[in-house]
Amino acid sequence: MPLINGKAVTAVLLIALLLVILYCYVSQSYRVVLSFQEKSKATEDDTSDPEAFVTRHELHLVSPDHLRYKQPSIVQGRTDVVAVTPWLAPVVWEGTFDSGLLDSIYRPKNITVAATVFAVGKYIMFLKDFLETAEKYFFVGFRVHVYVFTDRPNEVPQVKMAAGRQLTVMPVPSSNRWQEISARRMELIQTLIEKKLRNHTDYIFCLDVDSKFHGRWGTESLGGLVAVIHPGYYRNERSKFPYERRPASRAYVAPGEGDFYYCGGAFGGLLQEVHLLAKTCRQNFEADAKVGIEAAWQEESHLNRYMWINKPSKVLSPEYLWQDFKSKNPEIQIIRFSGVVKNYADIRPN
Ligand code: UDP
Ligand code: MN
Repeated sequence: MPLINGKAVTAVLLIALLLVILYCYVSQSYRVVLSFQEKSKATEDDTSDPEAFVTRHELHLVSPDHLRYKQPSIVQGRTDVVAVTPWLAPVVWEGTFDSGLLDSIYRPKNITVAATVFAVGKYIMFLKDFLETAEKYFFVGFRVHVYVFTDRPNEVPQVKMAAGRQLTVMPVPSSNRWQEISARRMELIQTLIEKKLRNHTDYIFCLDVDSKFHGRWGTESLGGLVAVIHPGYYRNERSKFPYERRPASRAYVAPGEGDFYYCGGAFGGLLQEVHLLAKTCRQNFEADAKVGIEAAWQEESHLNRYMWINKPSKVLSPEYLWQDFKSKNPEIQIIRFSGVVKNYADIRPN
């Protein structure tokens, strides 16, 4: 009996010991879970600290103190043009902004503006004038990085650039269809943003090379999504706009719809906005191609469809892309950027 009792006591003791070990283990891991939860709660609390809010620099416009400029007015100004869209985006016309004030606001932000320009095949002949006039008028005094896409890297002209401005040549294949050159721009812009610009560029403008600057194009043009109104159609009814009119196309805009007819030759904005635009237009262009459709004006048609749904936050008047062959209308007080007269038969590959 004593022997049995001894065994029983040992067994009971062993079980008790096991239970104690088990309890310690479970309560320990429970404490770890608890402390983890407390920690994460503490982290959440940290971010609610007002100091921790991230300031979106494009939304916060700080003016230097004591800056003197013409008093603004809400009852006097241009009466011959409309300077705001129905969704309350500004339409930029000469006389609607103060360039000195805007530059003073943007200079301390130390922004970098990228510009893309395509000079494929014979279009390389336009590059020199484009680059030289950009030096005189395009974001003068700001950091500018021009990306030239060309199949003729050796023919890129040497243009002296001011401090803070630079040029990068991006080699691309040649093509024997101008429609393809024009259309592939969206894909190349998308890739450029993803591979090279992310993290060190704030704004980007995508511009036609067959054009020259004749007047200031600067900080007044900055915005989230920026579109330029085409000089050829802004006095027309929307039914006359050359949108893609076949419902089967992803660029389709129905009759009675559409705000303005925008240029494919100039658009821009914040990097992330232009990335989404380029990606979407490219996808839609490729979806069209799969079913054998090429939109009436290639990527310009897709851009117009995109801007109908995704309203631009800033609209640039036709001052920002005129055409040399057009006489100036009275509301055009300054031509800032204008397409040169060209002989299509001479310069296009097809
Ligand atoms: N482009 C090019 N090589 C070509 C055709 C077009 O580099 O053979 C580029 C160039 O940047 C040009 C843009 O695509 O400015 C749009 O074509 P284009 O200017 O001929 O169109 P338009 O302004 O006459 O509608
Ligand atoms: Mn052009």
